[in-house]
Amino acid sequence: MDRNRCRRHRNPLLRQVEEDIKTEQCKRILGKEDIPLWRGRGDIYRQKFSSKETWENMRNPNAKWDPWHSIWFSSATPKFSFVTWLAAKNRLSTGDRMIKWNSNVNPKCVLCGDFIETRDHLFFECTYTQTLWKALAATIMGSDFTITWASLVEGMSRPLGKSVTSFITRYVFQAAIYSIWCERNGRRHGEQHNSGEALFRKIDRIVRNRLSTIQNKMKKLTPRQRKNREGDVKDESDGEARGALENVCVAIADEDFGDDMNDGNGGDDVNDDNNGVAVEE
Ligand SMILES: [Zn+2]
Repeated sequence: MDRNRCRRHRNPLLRQVEEDIKTEQCKRILGKEDIPLWRGRGDIYRQKFSSKETWENMRNPNAKWDPWHSIWFSSATPKFSFVTWLAAKNRLSTGDRMIKWNSNVNPKCVLCGDFIETRDHLFFECTYTQTLWKALAATIMGSDFTITWASLVEGMSRPLGKSVTSFITRYVFQAAIYSIWCERNGRRHGEQHNSGEALFRKIDRIVRNRLSTIQNKMKKLTPRQRKNREGDVKDESDGEARGALENVCVAIADEDFGDDMNDGNGGDDVNDDNNGVAVEE
């Protein structure tokens, strides 16, 4: 600090640094050696260096958002969760992102052809996906139904409990995202187009097959294991008119799921013979 020569700077930040040095020079105890100190948590200066505290000081932490428990839940299908996770992080190669890397790419939505393809457009502002999402989820979600991505993620991020309906909601959401992304990729690569109706039937079958798989696993449990699991799941179905999809799902689920939807075996669906788009109509 003794060796510091005060300079004139144009940059106001550097002028502030000079002022701070002058202030510190006035406060220091004469004859005491300068030593390097590291600013740590709570702006406390220490001689010991902590990479963690230095990193925390350097970055601007974003608002906390914790959707992981609603994306990586037990008995989910890993590939659906993975694509949903990419969508949640806005890391899917949508038109608006691809155009930044390659100006020759067509950034328009291949499902409607009218708008720039963004994550939020694809899920579910696009007329094609909006109709599909309404058919799939409007009845299940009831008053919580929305087509806005931010609201959907916010809703899915809330603790949804172990109810049958909450599992179906999250599973249908992920199956829809995965299937729409596959349809979009197929169209971009010149494959045959699926109508909204065909895609609905495909997702409907995916969800029913998944629920059947869980139900079959439950049947293999011993009576004691089943008894331990019963009662953990609260069926929130209220007897209102349901769509075709939910009627089937709840009819299967009502029997005796227990909490198998929410425990263990979350990653085994990759080996099921009915996982995802491989399902035949
Ligand atoms: Zn579109």
